[in-house]
Amino acid sequence: MYLNNLDMKELQEIITQNGFPKFRSEQIFRWIHKNLEDNFTQMHNLPKDLLDYLKNKHTIDKMTIYKRFNSTEDETKKYLFRLNDGNIIESVYLKYHFGESACISSQVGCAMGCSFCASTKNGKLRDLRASEMLGQVYEIQKDLGISINSIVVMGSGEPFDNYENLKKFIEIITSPEGKNLSIRKITVSTCGLIPSIYRAADENIGFHLAISLHAANQTKREKLIPVAKKYPITDLVKSCRYYTEKTGRRVTYEYVMIHHVNDSLQDAEELVSLLRNSICLVNLIPLNHVTEFEGTQSTSQSIAMFYNYLKKNKINVTIRRELGKDINAACGQLRNQSMENQ
Ligand code: SAH
Repeated sequence: MYLNNLDMKELQEIITQNGFPKFRSEQIFRWIHKNLEDNFTQMHNLPKDLLDYLKNKHTIDKMTIYKRFNSTEDETKKYLFRLNDGNIIESVYLKYHFGESACISSQVGCAMGCSFCASTKNGKLRDLRASEMLGQVYEIQKDLGISINSIVVMGSGEPFDNYENLKKFIEIITSPEGKNLSIRKITVSTCGLIPSIYRAADENIGFHLAISLHAANQTKREKLIPVAKKYPITDLVKSCRYYTEKTGRRVTYEYVMIHHVNDSLQDAEELVSLLRNSICLVNLIPLNHVTEFEGTQSTSQSIAMFYNYLKKNKINVTIRRELGKDINAACGQLRNQSMENQ
């Protein structure tokens, strides 16, 4: 069994069931998730019989850095990690004035099929385990000798299509015996799987929720995001209001700006009326280039027009900085790679 894929409760069960005292599981958890140790023999405060048991019966789910790309325009770094089964996933390290951030993937590929996003072009290969989501953060920390203090689950994959593993990942990374990251420093971005939005609200996990909205009406949204057909835009906004009521957290709506597709004054007007009664923030993302998509980035004039219109109508709005563009590390540019095309 992969020991680093177990939360504290699961680890305690295994350790005590095998005749070892409960406090040993806390020590193991600390080694793995605080000291980032992935070699049992280094866990020097554990007795020999326990070490033998661990070595014989368990392993650690490890990933290796396959490649790292350093932006020359900013401090962004893109990582390609090689997983146990040979799949390669991408993650991004971002430096902001407020700290060090990691953008991590939740699946190998993605099943959602959004037209403008590179991550979905080969479909979904599989879900990532919690240990593989944790590994992305831990390996970046070890490589750079830093401590990540915010995480966005905005890499490849749809996190709400991998809900259980996402939940376990959050449980472990916020655990006081582990990295002890505040839940307020975790953002989960979804293309709008409504049942999971209600579930997350009811479970009150408390992460920051971001919604890939990208259009202000149903017809346009369906063209960009196929799953929108199943989850109508008005129901989506309603579920987000519910999320805010339950968790007290403001929802962010991400809006990719595509030239002559969703950036007109009429689009801005529709967006204002859609979000009129919401406590929210709109984050405008200038479209990043993806080979397979023919759309282009909105002009700076239309982005400014859109921004000003929202602001004038009392909608909180920001424009996302484009980091890591020179290394294809920006939003929507992450994809699953095969060893062959490196
Ligand atoms: N599946 C989740 C997580 C991916 S997050 C989701 O859809 O939210 C990645 C973010 O980048 C999403 O907001 C996504 O819509 C956005 N994105 C995708 N392709 C993009 C592109 N070409 N340019 C800018 N942003 C893009």
